[in-house]
Amino acid sequence: MMDSAKIEIPEDTYLVGVGVSPGIAIGQTYLLERRTIAVERPVPPYQLDHEAERFHDALETARAQLTAIKTKASERSELKEHLYIIDTHLLILADDMLVSGTEKAIRTHSINVEGALKRTLQQFRDVFDSIADEYLRERISDIDAVGARLFRALAGRVEETPADVETKAVIVAHDLSPADTMQIDRNKTVGFVIDCGGRTSHTAILARSLGIPAVVGLENVTEVALSGQPVIIDGHTGTVILNPSDDTFREYLKKKQAYEYLENELRALQSLPAETQDGFHVRLMGNVELASEVSPAKDYGAEGIGLYRTEFLYMNRREMPGEEEQFEAYRAIVEGMEKKPVTIRTLDLGGDKYLPGLDLEDEDNPAMGLRAIRLSLKDPDLFKTQLRAILRASAFGKVRVMFPMVTGVAEVRSSKALLEVAKEELRQEGTAYDSKIDVGVMIETPSAVLLAGVLAEEVDFFSIGTNDLIQYCLAVDRGNEHVAYLYEPLHPAILRALKTVCDAARKAGIDVSMCGEMAAEPLYALVLLGLGFDELSMNAPCIARVKQVLRLVSRRDGEKL
Ligand code: PEP
Ligand code: MG
Repeated sequence: MMDSAKIEIPEDTYLVGVGVSPGIAIGQTYLLERRTIAVERPVPPYQLDHEAERFHDALETARAQLTAIKTKASERSELKEHLYIIDTHLLILADDMLVSGTEKAIRTHSINVEGALKRTLQQFRDVFDSIADEYLRERISDIDAVGARLFRALAGRVEETPADVETKAVIVAHDLSPADTMQIDRNKTVGFVIDCGGRTSHTAILARSLGIPAVVGLENVTEVALSGQPVIIDGHTGTVILNPSDDTFREYLKKKQAYEYLENELRALQSLPAETQDGFHVRLMGNVELASEVSPAKDYGAEGIGLYRTEFLYMNRREMPGEEEQFEAYRAIVEGMEKKPVTIRTLDLGGDKYLPGLDLEDEDNPAMGLRAIRLSLKDPDLFKTQLRAILRASAFGKVRVMFPMVTGVAEVRSSKALLEVAKEELRQEGTAYDSKIDVGVMIETPSAVLLAGVLAEEVDFFSIGTNDLIQYCLAVDRGNEHVAYLYEPLHPAILRALKTVCDAARKAGIDVSMCGEMAAEPLYALVLLGLGFDELSMNAPCIARVKQVLRLVSRRDGEKL
């Protein structure tokens, strides 16, 4: 849809939205305008069947389109873990509220299918609007995307898709659904900008997976931009410059080169080992909350997952995820890591991490309340369900299970006993699992530090959670800005605590890792190296920077320090 009739828009027209996928793209706008106008109109009784039929044809067309997109996308490894979005759209197409609701509206109000569908979508919107959680509220975008697809099918429009663009295009659209985004060909499209969307939308997540710069939430870019015009987008700052002047063009070309140079420098490190000058290897791992973070983590050079925070699967929802759903989520991550270790931490909920399904009482002091392993042990059914799911996933790769917020031996023994019960159940059912699964604990309470020698006899590994350990050791609330100046990772008390834990682990011959934020700070890398950590786990984008420091020093330097 390249528009050759160029109406001049002023040079250097700046628009600012939300940058959701970093990088600078310079190219030509490609306007993908696919909005349809759907008007409700009355229909005589004898035509109602025909309207219902049109609706079913549209459902069928949409289903065929999504299935075709899924087939194509499944050939691209970077999209593999996003395919569930297409499945979600297929499920929405079969949703009773959508299908029966629209059919009913056709007949109840004697209206055409467009009008009925508009009413059904409005009902969905009313429900979603009342949801407090931003992430869940934004999921309405999936329903809207399916709705838009149906309207296009009803209008008999031939689908123009991101796959149709010309070379070096920056796609400009009112909205791009995740299904649209999956069709983007990186050889032809250098970036995209849209009127709608927010940071947590699937489209934003996909843009990051694809590694193309993107700006969303621009509100009116489709009104301002024309097709085939020069454009610059900065996916970091959220800036879009239409019709850039020569000076702006030169400025951004420089920025783009600098950005790519830095990226390349760090990328060059990705395949190199995190090895010191004297040949000591520290395993650098990724911390993840979602399956979609696994593929980027591998790209950043993660040698495994050092912390998978499973509570994200439980949060922001009314019912608890069952064994099957948990198993599928864990398996996706384990398979995604292709035999590299994945450390699954059992539920670290309670306290400030609210969970409607659990009906927890308000607590005066949640940081020290019924949370993490305490909560799991209080509800053995809930805990065993999770352990069974983790064990089942262990048949698909290298899984380690880890218990959070441990304060003493009794908690570890009770947890291990329940793990044994879960193993026995699976064995009797003939379900596969890794019988030698490694069991570890997080060291994040002062009590666990003082008992490190005893705990080390109970488990296969330690992982130090400095985020909490610092809070409890120094009596500094990790989220309170008024005492933030006291939150000091290099405080002598913390260094002694780390040394105590490392020494105890070494004496017992077990691995010791760190998965708190402290591990991600290149400045601390030398100290941690000197203390003898085998493994550091962090947000994956930080891996290259930590590796850069480790490769420049020797372990002896660290020990001396
Ligand atoms: C920690 O406490 O350091 C940790 C890694 O766990 P979380 O941040 O999830 O409490
Ligand atoms: Mg913690």
